[in-house]
Amino acid sequence: MNRMNRLYEAIDVSVFERMSQAAARHDAVNLGQGFPDFGWPDAILEEAAREVTGGSNQYPPSRGIPALRQTVADHYRRHYGHDLTPDHVVVTSGATEALAVIAQALVSPGDEVIIFTPAFDAYEPMVRRAGGTPVEVKLDAPDFRIDRARLEQAVGPRCRAIILNNPHNPTGRLFDREELMAVAEVAEAHDLIVVSDEVWEHILFGEEDFIPFASLPDMAARTIKCGSAGKIFSLTGWKVGWLVADPDLASIAARAHQFTTFATPPNLQAAVAKGLGQDDWIAPMQDGFRSSRDRMLRGLEQAGYRAISPAGTYFMTVDLAASGIAADDETFARRAVEEAGVAVIPMSPFYIDDPDRHMIRLCFAKRDATLDAGLAALERAARFF
Ligand code: PMP
Repeated sequence: MNRMNRLYEAIDVSVFERMSQAAARHDAVNLGQGFPDFGWPDAILEEAAREVTGGSNQYPPSRGIPALRQTVADHYRRHYGHDLTPDHVVVTSGATEALAVIAQALVSPGDEVIIFTPAFDAYEPMVRRAGGTPVEVKLDAPDFRIDRARLEQAVGPRCRAIILNNPHNPTGRLFDREELMAVAEVAEAHDLIVVSDEVWEHILFGEEDFIPFASLPDMAARTIKCGSAGKIFSLTGWKVGWLVADPDLASIAARAHQFTTFATPPNLQAAVAKGLGQDDWIAPMQDGFRSSRDRMLRGLEQAGYRAISPAGTYFMTVDLAASGIAADDETFARRAVEEAGVAVIPMSPFYIDDPDRHMIRLCFAKRDATLDAGLAALERAARFF
């Protein structure tokens, strides 16, 4: 069979979909795919319902409704002091589409793009689909720090961009100023674009500071940021996201967006614009997720697992090897879902050429009852090995 694109023939079903399907098949608690079962502001749901029945249900402008582009610009001015206008913003169908159109707009065949791993699994195929070659720069467990020398060494003559994800999925790390400055200096020295995937920017627990990449000296002009209302409001199925960049770069990405989805549902955009305009829901949302993080950390510790405490996101990493479990991540994940009744994410699919196979990712953005059921199943799973 050689009629279909070989890229997709070679790619498996995404690990998130695979594990969610397995959870449904085995009636298991799903601590795999990253979606919360609490935490959204009800007012935004009511606003969306009003917009569906009374607002616009027809094609909106391709770059996004003016109210949302303005609100995104204002939101980042208010939170980070960034000097933005609606011309910096392109609304997309989730950050996933933002990343896809950025790759299409940025990468020409033969270009190289640096990806720090472990990484959100969409980056690699998106770079390849645009004709580019992903270059893996590993972050080593348990600290997952950016190593400047390793980064520098990975930059070749065809390198166009670095994809940075901060706060970081799957580890929940926030990169510190020294690490981010290393990325900035390498980007400046080699004239690279930095695609800064900051979808987790508000899912923070207050222990460490999040530094938006565009805040670093001279970086605003070479940064393309991705944001996601799905993450900010704990409504992952909404798929409303955006990219923020210098207006010239944003306009080129907007051309790729016209021929990808063209536009994003206007009623959901309007509801997101309302929600993003005020900030009083952020602290209670963070408190809720901090407490579920702590509950999971305690439960894992009691069950004998070694988990790495995250400073943000919905996720934490468990080091199976450090927990005394010799099985590789895929074996552990398969037996956990099939025999113990809990779905987890094996982390080896988050690498490119050189996977580490001793870690899993857990989603803790769940109600106490879900967490407790998942933890009980993980305790059972630990006894298999
Ligand atoms: N980037 C990262 C790092 C993510 O974790 C996710 C979702 N898991 C996305 C992008 C996609 O965001 P969206 O749902 O808005 O498409």
